[in-house]
Amino acid sequence: MSAPGSFTDDTYVRRPGRFASVRREQWDSWHWQHQNRLRRPADFDGVFDLSDDERRGFAQGAERFHVAITPHYAALMDGDDPHCPIRRQALPAGAELREYPFELADPLGEERYMPVPGLTHRYPDRALLYVTHHCPVYCRHCTRKRKVSNPETAASKTQLEAGIRYIADTPAIRDVIVSGGDPLTLSDERLDHILGSLRQIPHLDVIRVGTRNPVTLPQRITDGLADVLRRHGPIYVNTHFNHPAELCRQSIRALQRLVDARCVVGNQMVLLRGINDDASTVMTLNRGLLRHGCRPYYILQCDMARGITHFRTPLSTGLAIMDHLRGRIGGIGVPDFVVDLPGGGGKIELLPDYIVDRRRQGPTEIIRFRNFRGEEFDFVDVDRSN
Ligand SMILES: *Cc1c(COP(=O)(O)O)cnc(C)c1O
Ligand code: SF4
Repeated sequence: MSAPGSFTDDTYVRRPGRFASVRREQWDSWHWQHQNRLRRPADFDGVFDLSDDERRGFAQGAERFHVAITPHYAALMDGDDPHCPIRRQALPAGAELREYPFELADPLGEERYMPVPGLTHRYPDRALLYVTHHCPVYCRHCTRKRKVSNPETAASKTQLEAGIRYIADTPAIRDVIVSGGDPLTLSDERLDHILGSLRQIPHLDVIRVGTRNPVTLPQRITDGLADVLRRHGPIYVNTHFNHPAELCRQSIRALQRLVDARCVVGNQMVLLRGINDDASTVMTLNRGLLRHGCRPYYILQCDMARGITHFRTPLSTGLAIMDHLRGRIGGIGVPDFVVDLPGGGGKIELLPDYIVDRRRQGPTEIIRFRNFRGEEFDFVDVDRSN
């Protein structure tokens, strides 16, 4: 038990004055974190001064896509720097209001591939099951802005049961991704029920959970939740760290609990302009993730969703990051750089071009490659007549 105000955890050196007297047990409770989320400009009184641009974003953009920020995530923000990478991911900005003709409401065509409401079946062997549309923090770069945070579109219980029935009736599906919104918004009991129902389906090899709670609400990874995940394991948990500053003590503990609950933990980073669009930031993040048992899985190109174009980088930025990583960190620290094609084309991987030249020589072909240092090497490729 700690007395009010004696909160000394170094994660929260910038813990805003507004929360100075919050008791440790409250701060560590995910329910308290959820109930005390910052949603309006007035909630930032005693936290930090919003910039003019953030105020403009609140005034005009927050209607379309709600703002919610856990005290935990707010405490990671640098109140003196409006360009703080944590701040920019969660606070609205004037640029969200700019519209471009190429932007799409449903950039991945997720509604088009829905055999039943609340389930996208795009690849033969995989299905995406939306179990809620709520998240602890609403990321400004969210690709599902069209429905996430909107209570009217939340998955109902009957819809969920229909989704699970569709999976049970479709033996080609071997891999289910429990997604949302953020599935860990649901109670342990609901998750236990969903994961238990999926585990009973004999043709499922893989059950995944996509969640940003380890980043935005690490207090959610309780021992009780760990028990649920362990019971139905192995669960493949893909989380969403975008910046090394998010890898604080609480998040690290959350990752450790997931690993202890025999989850296979991966990270899906979204490439965001001015936040993580340089090789050294990604390198630092990936090293930190590996240290705590989380394998970098994807770097996702930011989608063509409405209101997020200011976050997008050219494809060449992602390719330059990939080029830098390969050779400088072990293969387990090199994720795939993927583009989710607009309209429902699915994900494709982009790779730097390592081929410098190719020429035929009789039945063989000499291919000149470069390595990560720029040194060149000839590889003799054979055809089937050898
Ligand atoms: C991303 C995605 C998946 C999973 O793809 P992986 O490349 O296997 O991680 C499955 N279904 C849909 C609709 C997706 O968007
Ligand atoms: S946690 Fe995921 S679903 Fe929720 S707002 Fe962020 S990106 Fe969107």
